[in-house]
Amino acid sequence: MKLVRQFGGGAAEGRASDKALLGGKGANLAEMASLGLPVPPGFTITTEVCRHVMAHGAGKYPDGLDGEVADALKQVEALTKATFGDPGHPLLVSVRSGAPASMPGMMDTILNLGLNDDTVAGLAQRSGNPRFAWDCYRRFVAMYGEVVMGVVAPSEHEELAFDRILDDVKRKHRANRDQDLGEAALREAVALFKAEIKRATGTAFPDDVRAQLWGAIGAVFASWNNPRADYYRKLHGISAAMGTAVNVQAMVFGNLGDDCATGVAFTRNPATGTAELYGEFLTNAQGEDVVAGVRTPEQIAALAAKLPEAHAELVRVAKLLEDHFRDMQDLEFTVQAGQLFMLQTRTGKRTGKAMVKIAVDMVAEGKLTPRDAVLRIDPAKLDEVLHPTIDPKARPPAIAKGLPASPGAAIGRVVFTATAAAEWAQRGESVVLVRTDTSPEDIHGMKAASGILTSRGGMTSHAAVVARGMGKCCVTSCTSLRVDAAKRTAAFVGGGQERKIKEGDTLTLDGSTGEVFLGSAPLVPAQLGSELGTLMEWVDSFRRLKVRTNADTPSDARTARSFGAEGIGLCRTEHMFFQPERILAVREMILAGDEAGRRAALAKILPMQRTDFAELFRVMDGLPVTIRLLDPPLHEFLPHGTAEIEEVAAALGKPAQAIAAKVAELTEANPMLGHRGCRLAITFPEIYEIQTRAIGEAAAEVSAAGVAVHPEIMIPLVMVPEELRRLRALVARTFEAAVGSAQIAYTIGTMIELPRACVVADQIAAHADFFSFGTNDLTQTTYGLSRDDAGRFLSAYVEGGVLPSDPFSVLDPEGVGALIELAVRGGRGVVPGLKVGICGEHGGDPSSVGFCHRAGLDYVSCSPFRVPIARVAAARAALIEQGKDQNPVETKK
Ligand code: ADP
Ligand code: MG
Ligand code: MG
Repeated sequence: MKLVRQFGGGAAEGRASDKALLGGKGANLAEMASLGLPVPPGFTITTEVCRHVMAHGAGKYPDGLDGEVADALKQVEALTKATFGDPGHPLLVSVRSGAPASMPGMMDTILNLGLNDDTVAGLAQRSGNPRFAWDCYRRFVAMYGEVVMGVVAPSEHEELAFDRILDDVKRKHRANRDQDLGEAALREAVALFKAEIKRATGTAFPDDVRAQLWGAIGAVFASWNNPRADYYRKLHGISAAMGTAVNVQAMVFGNLGDDCATGVAFTRNPATGTAELYGEFLTNAQGEDVVAGVRTPEQIAALAAKLPEAHAELVRVAKLLEDHFRDMQDLEFTVQAGQLFMLQTRTGKRTGKAMVKIAVDMVAEGKLTPRDAVLRIDPAKLDEVLHPTIDPKARPPAIAKGLPASPGAAIGRVVFTATAAAEWAQRGESVVLVRTDTSPEDIHGMKAASGILTSRGGMTSHAAVVARGMGKCCVTSCTSLRVDAAKRTAAFVGGGQERKIKEGDTLTLDGSTGEVFLGSAPLVPAQLGSELGTLMEWVDSFRRLKVRTNADTPSDARTARSFGAEGIGLCRTEHMFFQPERILAVREMILAGDEAGRRAALAKILPMQRTDFAELFRVMDGLPVTIRLLDPPLHEFLPHGTAEIEEVAAALGKPAQAIAAKVAELTEANPMLGHRGCRLAITFPEIYEIQTRAIGEAAAEVSAAGVAVHPEIMIPLVMVPEELRRLRALVARTFEAAVGSAQIAYTIGTMIELPRACVVADQIAAHADFFSFGTNDLTQTTYGLSRDDAGRFLSAYVEGGVLPSDPFSVLDPEGVGALIELAVRGGRGVVPGLKVGICGEHGGDPSSVGFCHRAGLDYVSCSPFRVPIARVAAARAALIEQGKDQNPVETKK
């Protein structure tokens, strides 16, 4: 197979669909070249070569690669009429990484390769611009020194040697900005850079252009396994096996003068989704200058005034590419002497809000069908849209304002390094990472932070792009902010004033307006826009799986209904017990020596539970409400520690000793497998009896007021059919007595949480009207893994690849899932059409929802804020099952 694929001159040996082989960048460069767009010619060394290097070691290339690269280079020379290494008319190239999955800024790119002391003279002469030639040279030597030769910053607080040297040169030559440096200063910088390379690495900078090229190719392949690429892959679940491609491409120059520019643009606004060409550029600049936040760039609209022809061409190309790929594109371009060149296009990352708006707008524009639009939605990303924002009615005055780079609100304590962010977050602190700008090394800290604030960089800076990808609030270009990371302080300056902040202070960020507030500002729930409503109508028309909510309080139930919940799938009655005025009665019940004592205490609880249930029934207004009878072990309700025991003793008029004795008596070695669930009611039936009475009386009361009521009474942790047979009889008898003459349609079912229950589900179904899989406990008991203790080592399993993911977050389809399927088959074999759902945390996880759809469940139940996510996930599962879209994320031609 060919190891090198050519592109340029209106043709290409690859297509957009060749991403696995050519990487995303290479495949789309090929596609753009075939579309006749202005792409500098070049070639792509395939990911196959990277895999070969990974298997055989650095520098060990497959046979024939040398020759293929040499041939490809000749073609680029022919197309550009320049020659690699020729002092008269040198060809310069960029060497760019490009993996199959987008990993922005995670790997290394080298520009202006092919320069040495001879070719720089040639470049100076041909361009008639020696300053430009030396600007390219100093950039190249610094990039090569860093990326290929491994000159690194001494520490997180210190600058890279090249940056420090350049600052010194600027100071010496009284240049404020990079572009104020003249030829002489740049020559000096190059000499100093080379000396630094020699000093730091012991090796001289290579003058031979072919050695430069192979050095760069090797470095790009090696960068596939650098720590930040590794971290990024873990974060996004990208496989390390596929490897990266290397793109070698003729340079075009945005730094030739003021009729030149470099920039990035989105075909729609990536933060809001508004249909406008959105982006930033810098005149007389090159490559990463825009992204690196070295200078604060200008808005794309300003390009129309400065370079009107290039702007018009960019508008045309942007529309063409968006229509071609039928999705919002993220473009990288350079303008050389007024002429536009395209250097990259890819599907643009966007916020949850923009994702929804773009999908719905593109349907309105006739570019997508509602089906396509739903398949475009990343359900997990909807989370952001549902997040709280700063209360508009109680907005404090802002201390500073930057660019609204990624929406949402963040409140947290200030830290100045990624390492500090990770450490503080580990301790459970919410932190705001405050930096001059961020770089790929900061990614672990950005992940740990609740929000990110930078003083430099624009809407497309590293901080902005990464934060949007993570769905994290971010404010960039906060120009009044001065950060001194080494001293762990910063200041907001302006209007002759200075407001200092230090590590540990609290800040609030509004990523939707760019405002920064001192202290913590009040938050309110998200406002759902009309686009989300439209999308959800389509979603509901496609899905089969119903979505309920886990709600213990009327207010949770109300939130969930506003998010479209179709019932309550789990109401945990014990949560009602913890309120201060109730817990005392519960403790009295536990401490009672006999049944009479327990009944007396339960009689106090009865009216309170009745009120709770009545309110829930009213809120749910005819929708099913699944109520789980008491589940946790009783000692969870008892006081701990002497002080608390004495307090309770005083309140109950009992000796503290007696209470301490009861606490000791109820202590369990392994409470997860102890006296809990329906085992409580096998020993103390009066507990379930009183709870059932409360449900029945509440149902009768609400139904008498004209509200339809559908209680579903659920008995937890059944291990043998006999438990359910007995308790069902108790519950049915009690319920019917409680409702009296009222006609209430109710059901009695069980939670399936133990592997044994799955295996004997056919026998259990004989006593059940429904099954609800409690996937948290079922995962614990299937794996024999305690959720409370697994935290200490489970992350090592996931990071080390022993487990593909945390089974408490993502339902394990092979083990737990197989048990669920077994139980569904068993149950429905006895009771055809048995209603089956899940109520563990997995009900809000998109991939787990997909599993539930395929397993033929009737519903999933999840926390209120995840209801819309589950609805979308259910619709996508249904659409994917219909099979027409094998690969929904890929763009179709
Ligand atoms: P990343 O994957 O980090 O975006 P790229 O390979 O896209 O890295 O390179 C970063 C930037 O370098 C590009 O956006 C572009 O501005 C510049 N660049 C890369 N190749 C060339 C080239 N052949 N001519 C001019 N600029 C280039
Ligand atoms: Mg880069
Ligand atoms: Mg790029």
